[in-house]
Amino acid sequence: MENKGKIGVTTENIFPVIKKFLYSDHEIFLRELVANAVDAEQKMKALADAGDVKLPLDELKVRIELDEKKKTLKIIDNGIGMTEEEVDKYINQIAFSSAGEFLEKYKDQLGSIIGHFGLGFYSAFMVSKKVTIDTLSWKDGAKAVKWTCDGSPEYEMGESDKKDRGTCITLFIDEEESEFAAKGRIQGLLDKYCKFMPVPIVFGKKQEWKDGKYVDTDEDNVINTVEPLWARKPSELTKEDYDKFYRALYPMGEDPLFYIHLNVDYPFHLTGILYFPKIKDKIEVRKDKIQLYCNQMFVTDSVDNIVPDFLTLLHGVIDSPDIPLNVSRSYLQSDANVKKISGYITKKVADRLEEIFKKERAELESKWDNLKLFIEYGMLSDEKFCERAMKFCLLKNTEGKFFSIDDYRKAVEPLQTDKDKKVVLLYATDKEAQYSFIEAARNKGYDVLWLDCQLDSYFVNMLESKMKDTTLVRVDADSVDNLIRKEEEAKVDMPESERTDLDILFQAVLPTENQYYVQPVRMGADGDAVLITQSEFMRRYREMSALGGGMNFYGEMPASYNINVNIDNPLVAKVLAAKADAVKAAELVPEAAKDATEEEKKAVKEKQEAALASHKEEVQAFARGNDLLAQLCDLALLASGMLKGKALSDFIARSRKVVEDAYLKA
Ligand code: ADP
Repeated sequence: MENKGKIGVTTENIFPVIKKFLYSDHEIFLRELVANAVDAEQKMKALADAGDVKLPLDELKVRIELDEKKKTLKIIDNGIGMTEEEVDKYINQIAFSSAGEFLEKYKDQLGSIIGHFGLGFYSAFMVSKKVTIDTLSWKDGAKAVKWTCDGSPEYEMGESDKKDRGTCITLFIDEEESEFAAKGRIQGLLDKYCKFMPVPIVFGKKQEWKDGKYVDTDEDNVINTVEPLWARKPSELTKEDYDKFYRALYPMGEDPLFYIHLNVDYPFHLTGILYFPKIKDKIEVRKDKIQLYCNQMFVTDSVDNIVPDFLTLLHGVIDSPDIPLNVSRSYLQSDANVKKISGYITKKVADRLEEIFKKERAELESKWDNLKLFIEYGMLSDEKFCERAMKFCLLKNTEGKFFSIDDYRKAVEPLQTDKDKKVVLLYATDKEAQYSFIEAARNKGYDVLWLDCQLDSYFVNMLESKMKDTTLVRVDADSVDNLIRKEEEAKVDMPESERTDLDILFQAVLPTENQYYVQPVRMGADGDAVLITQSEFMRRYREMSALGGGMNFYGEMPASYNINVNIDNPLVAKVLAAKADAVKAAELVPEAAKDATEEEKKAVKEKQEAALASHKEEVQAFARGNDLLAQLCDLALLASGMLKGKALSDFIARSRKVVEDAYLKA
């Protein structure tokens, strides 16, 4: 019964094509063949369960046998097997023609196709120069069949001497693909793709250490866990089970914070376990990723289009037969099932966090610092999640106390409501740099939040947009009395010419790389002489544009600061008095007469400008020679962490002299 034929492929010689284009995905052949074997086993089990099989049902197992010398790899199952007709139908007609169709359909985009489609049996040819099938069907009176194909579209079919039920696929590994004839490589692939398949998969024998080397024992080396944790009932599992499973998935990972067991039957099938990993202060390179399975067969760990971006920070496993695998990425994004799945997972994650918030508040607080980045990222990137998270998101104050967002607003409302009836939430981002501001605010009875994570600049904007009648202000945005304005600010009474001089004085001695708005303020005789602040608005925009990386308007501008000069302070008064003594007021050049000619008017204007310029020079000269002014400015810069380099060393020299004068000469 020797039989030759031509496989029903549309493209004349598609093997070289597929080898070339699908180069990087050659390894999936093993997954495909093992999946077929597992299918055949499960069909066998279904038949047995239904009482249709007469053959004794020996233990269902898939065996992988590698002969490194001969470079052959066998995938052997004791499943349902195939009759000659079935081989003809499923292998000659369907398997090959569907591969042909597949190529026809995707020939323009082969390079970009998601690497994880089911090429099925056909993928064996990606690594083999020849493939044989020996198979014996479970059916009464079936004869064993041998099918051989050497990679051209021609095959041979004949009798096989196979005695036991099932199928043995033998791959004669191509010279160019000899990596797949190495034990380590096959072991690695089985580990990657087959670790949780539902039927035992045996690869050689377990080994033991004997007389200085490893030797085979009699025991089969089963490489998989037949019933992985996610396929089991949550009610049967303990926290230890989940932790153990996590370690099996990510041997190098730190223990996770929390887990979620997913299980849904309708309107799609999905099971899985997700873990919240410990996220430190940076979004780490995500080396440990969510793994996607399809009926316990590993498909991919790039789930970017299946779960929302922020959830890719989670770890764990998703298993769903309803995620289409044979399609391109852009298709995946628009797939209705994928959208539903993604929405479901987001909801489940929010449910679980809310449950933790309600039932395990202490636990949540203790792990918050590691969870915060994840939650904030989620709130910023997913509107639905944000709505939910407004309930369970925690805020931490500088004393280390935690509050829900609503509770916090209520707690600070009595003291921190401004004249416009807005509740002002104060926050700090840097314990060291903002130390004196934090202290000042707390001494005034205000509460200060910690928002020191890298997403917090965005988070602050987001919170403001979600909370009614609430603003957030960083503690160093203004002097403590002005942080929360309870009444209209009384403008400091000072003649315009003196304001101008004040400006010239300070601009002359402050570092030139920034922009300054010098303004007289009244902070009492005991208040700081000079206080440098940066308005919340300006700072936020600069930060946002720096984070966004774009060179927009605010990003390009020099940083601008408010120089609050406390004219109640006696040292400031001393500087101003010294200036008044040293520098005369600017010469007053009378305006030109109404009927003056253009030329005369111009001359007057020039004279006025010259007078102002020369006055300015005099004030500048005074400023540069005044040690007290320099000292006051430098102290303010120092308090804001802005005194650096030469300016700092000048300040130290000057301060030493002041100390010497005070202690040695007295
Ligand atoms: P798919 O598995 O997607 O249907 P394949 O090309 O992998 O496509 O296989 C085609 C068909 O060949 C299968 O549907 C199955 O009927 C049959 N087949 C393949 N491998 C085996 C096997 N080990 N035992 C029994 N039947 C098999």
